[in-house]
Amino acid sequence: MIVVMHGGAREEEIEAVIKRLEGAGFKVHLSRGVVRTVIGAIGDKSRLELQSLEAMPGVEKVVPILKPYKLAGREFKPEDTVVQVGKLRLGGPEIHLIAGPCAVESREQLLETAHAVREAGATMLRGGAFKPRTSPYSFQGLGRRGLEILAEAREQTGLAVVTEVTDQAMAREVAEVADVLQIGSRNMQNFALLQAVGKLGKPILLKRGLSATIEEWLLAAEYILAEDNFNVILCERGIRTFETYTRNTLDLSAVAAVKQLSHLPVVADPSHGTGKRALVLPLARAAVAAGADGLLLEVHPNPENALSDGPQSIKPEQFSALVGEVAAMARVLGRSLARLQA
Ligand code: PEP
Ligand code: MN
Repeated sequence: MIVVMHGGAREEEIEAVIKRLEGAGFKVHLSRGVVRTVIGAIGDKSRLELQSLEAMPGVEKVVPILKPYKLAGREFKPEDTVVQVGKLRLGGPEIHLIAGPCAVESREQLLETAHAVREAGATMLRGGAFKPRTSPYSFQGLGRRGLEILAEAREQTGLAVVTEVTDQAMAREVAEVADVLQIGSRNMQNFALLQAVGKLGKPILLKRGLSATIEEWLLAAEYILAEDNFNVILCERGIRTFETYTRNTLDLSAVAAVKQLSHLPVVADPSHGTGKRALVLPLARAAVAAGADGLLLEVHPNPENALSDGPQSIKPEQFSALVGEVAAMARVLGRSLARLQA
């Protein structure tokens, strides 16, 4: 529920309401707006006498949160969540570029890509060490060795590392290296995994499920938030539609809609969203225009020989050109690209 305080509510009155809610076991979020303060509260309503809460000094009204996702919605927390990744802040005015190969294939491949995307303007490096492939006969990733290579790339470039965790049993080990843990599309509704990564407290990049509705996606985020981890970045990566020309249909309306519905930052992945290298740049521009806080892009020095997702991977020089185009789009919107400090 939301406790709306009167415009002139005093500090002690606000504190008394929070104390009362917390005393009844509620999770509380305080938002101080220009006009009035609202207190979001999630918990067991049977533990509280609502009428007496409403009668407390300074309280204007108590309204229920009607949406099924409680913590992820703007009712609970009206202001944007900014996810802190080391020194980087994702979800503020600056747009982040997260770039790298689909999979870590070798030390040389990853380091070459990492230096190239760092040079061109990425702030984070992506690369799967554990790959959730549709076919068991496809390349499954280098596993632990992949994590070591990612750690070396961070050491050399300063890029933050985003990598996928596919299995609860490996979550802790992956989290030792990753700055951001990616939950892939195929695991969006692996609720035990969501709870496990939520408990680790690290930033999570939560991809939208292959055929998930916006509501299902936000409810998946809710599992992580319910573990008291608000460091969640949502990632629109395309959904399955009747269209087969593209690998998926990048749902840019979802980017705009989720920015309205939720306080969580949203990034878009035009690589998986289209499956086609030639479509990555136009959809990257469009995603930023739709309000994305960042882009996840597959970049490979030699896409023809990539072990996974070659057809949608852009080359480093194409990534450089994309950075310029996306920066121009960001400027139009009064935003800018985030930069790593030298
Ligand atoms: C990936 O990012 O390489 C990946 C496997 O993505 P998705 O889960 O969106 O298919
Ligand atoms: Mn991929």
